[in-house]
Amino acid sequence: MTVLTDVKTRWDRVAQRLRAELGEDLYTSWFARMELEDFESGRLVVSVPTRFLKSWIETHYVSKLHKIGEAELGAFDSIHVRVRMRAGVAQRPAAEAGQNGHASHNGVHAVAQSHQQPSVIAAAQAATTVDRGPQLDPNQTFGTFVVGSSNQLAHAAMCRVADAAPGAAISFNPLFIHAGSGLGKTHLLSAVAHRIRERHPERRVMFLTAERFMINFVMALRQRDTLAFKDQFAAIDVLLIDDFQFLQGKTMQQEFCNAFNSLVDSRRQVIVAADVPPSQLDAIDQRMRSRLMGGLVVDIELPDLDTRRRILKSRHETMLKRDPSVLIPDDVLEFIANRVTGTGRELEGALNRIAAYQQFNQAAVTLDLASLVLRDMQANPDGSRIKIDDILKIVGRHFNVGRTDLLSPRRARSVVVPRQIGMYLAKKMTARSLPEIGRRFGGRDHSTVLHAVRKIEDQIKTDDKLAREVALLIRLVEQG
Ligand code: ADP
Ligand code: MG
Repeated sequence: MTVLTDVKTRWDRVAQRLRAELGEDLYTSWFARMELEDFESGRLVVSVPTRFLKSWIETHYVSKLHKIGEAELGAFDSIHVRVRMRAGVAQRPAAEAGQNGHASHNGVHAVAQSHQQPSVIAAAQAATTVDRGPQLDPNQTFGTFVVGSSNQLAHAAMCRVADAAPGAAISFNPLFIHAGSGLGKTHLLSAVAHRIRERHPERRVMFLTAERFMINFVMALRQRDTLAFKDQFAAIDVLLIDDFQFLQGKTMQQEFCNAFNSLVDSRRQVIVAADVPPSQLDAIDQRMRSRLMGGLVVDIELPDLDTRRRILKSRHETMLKRDPSVLIPDDVLEFIANRVTGTGRELEGALNRIAAYQQFNQAAVTLDLASLVLRDMQANPDGSRIKIDDILKIVGRHFNVGRTDLLSPRRARSVVVPRQIGMYLAKKMTARSLPEIGRRFGGRDHSTVLHAVRKIEDQIKTDDKLAREVALLIRLVEQG
């Protein structure tokens, strides 16, 4: 135990040195999410959340990491970079389970096109032979997307683009859609891909995440085949890019910019989804940002009560089709709609959780059961009451970390984890926005807060101990 703690301390110093040598920007881009996994028998094992980071670190930074690592940890033979498993991977079909796994929204979704276009498919596949991500989700269509006041503009714009006849004058190009996580961006992009495949099979669609774009490009560079990479884009009519905020690095941006310009200039449709508007894409070059603003920019807001009801009803119907025994009475659906005031993803999470509870315990779903199951999942209904100060106080007390440390730039694990949990609680339990939470947590960036929220969200799914700890903290904060 002490040995391990000792290695951790030394590992923190490795991180500090890396940061000092590379500078803040590079460090945050490539190493901020790297974690120490193991250090034994001459082998240093670290992990990162995505395959892209793994491949980037392996190609660019292994020797630096080795050198700095040895200075702090003593000599070792090799470095192994792993991709951390994330929740959800295990449920994927066997055919896709071979890869080291990131959740579905991080991979390529599909090159949604038909057999009539072998050249496009071939080019796209050539670039993705090593790692094809999950396929397009067959359930995410316009048919299953619930339209309400929070998303009607985004929905209308996406429909319009999907239904445009090939060659018709393009009304919004690029179409940029932004919203927080779980509000239906990926669903809408998938819906566009499905719709075009159905109604205009002659239009060639490519649907990929920014991360996948980068992986493909790095692989093309390695195989010295950037021409084929560029050619892919010459042959498509519609480009759908998801999670654009993850596009990183100058070369990547340049490459994306080239593909983007050539498509838009030749009047082919580009749709980009991100979690912030173009003006807040801090890592993206100013010229690219203004090009992104040059088309139509729409956002999606949190669903209102009526939309939440309809989303729940539609999800429940889908569940029933798969398994008629998952009966959730109307009053329980109504309860969830009132209680879970978050995104589509949170609504689904609540529904799944109740359904799972019912299945495991063979119990009928009642209001009591629902409120029990949801209790530690969601903020108290009166979110305005809770202050970020209270959260800081309670988290600090619980983890025995001072407020100054929580707000400081310190990156020691003993401070980072409580800080991230604090940000997560602030997001879940107050109505404060990400930038505001960032400011209150020592002047941090909104993307840092978002990263923390997602990280804790993900970890809770697999780490029961953490889930219980967070549930306890929620209760403590609620009780003031
Ligand atoms: P994002 O990409 O914005 O993070 P997703 O598109 O992955 O969000 O949506 C999260 C989940 O919530 C998906 O399962 C999606 O089907 C569902 N969802 C979100 N908004 C809606 C909506 N308006 N109607 C139906 N389902 C929705
Ligand atoms: Mg998404």
